[in-house]
Amino acid sequence: MILILLGPPGAGKGTYSQRLIEAYKIPQISTGEILRTSVKNGTEMGTKAKGYMDKGLLVPDEIIVGIVSERIKDADCKNGFLLDGFPRTVEQANALGLIFEKSKLKLDSVINIIVKEDVLFKRLTGRRMCKVCGGNYNIYTLPSKVEGVCDKCEGALYQREDDKPETIERRLKVYAEQTAPLINYYKDKNILHDVVASEGSIEEIVEKIKTIIGK
Ligand code: ADP
Ligand code: ZN
Repeated sequence: MILILLGPPGAGKGTYSQRLIEAYKIPQISTGEILRTSVKNGTEMGTKAKGYMDKGLLVPDEIIVGIVSERIKDADCKNGFLLDGFPRTVEQANALGLIFEKSKLKLDSVINIIVKEDVLFKRLTGRRMCKVCGGNYNIYTLPSKVEGVCDKCEGALYQREDDKPETIERRLKVYAEQTAPLINYYKDKNILHDVVASEGSIEEIVEKIKTIIGK
């Protein structure tokens, strides 16, 4: 099963991904998460990427495509994987198409998560992440049991640099200009499924997605 979750920043891709990978027993490949780990570890790639990320801009395509093409060769990807936050530009989608063609892999579904802009803003400003395991929380909609502490691993929660209000606006603009064109790109390939996620619980939305994907 190969899946892509598409949607603006704050749509909940990370949250739904965590639920879906448990249900389908496939790994989540989050390019944002991979980049944040590289930044934390101070690798050369991380140092390059940090400047773009903190400003709310996209990291150059060649860096990202390199990350993904290597990651999907790992043994845990042999039964499929879920891409969260990739592709984000038409160039990335074309590169992915070529990789799939070469490796004889088939993309099963692209889930397009639709959320109203005012809801996005609140979700982004409320978002908190675990320093240790990358778990997602939200002070408004999905609080941890103990404030500031991860439920799963007791790591400290923090607010991402790019979840500050000024940067959020930039990221929403970047999404509209560079990533939203992928909606028609995958619609034309008859592989796109819309999921409206402005309302409803996380479980309800995950159920909707599972019904679309099938077993
Ligand atoms: P969100 O979906 O909430 O915006 P992510 O965690 O997916 O956040 O990504 C955080 C940042 O990492 C992005 O703003 C961007 O700078 C960089 N990034 C992640 N994925 C990509 C990608 N596919 N292409 C370019 N940049 C990316
Ligand atoms: Zn944690």
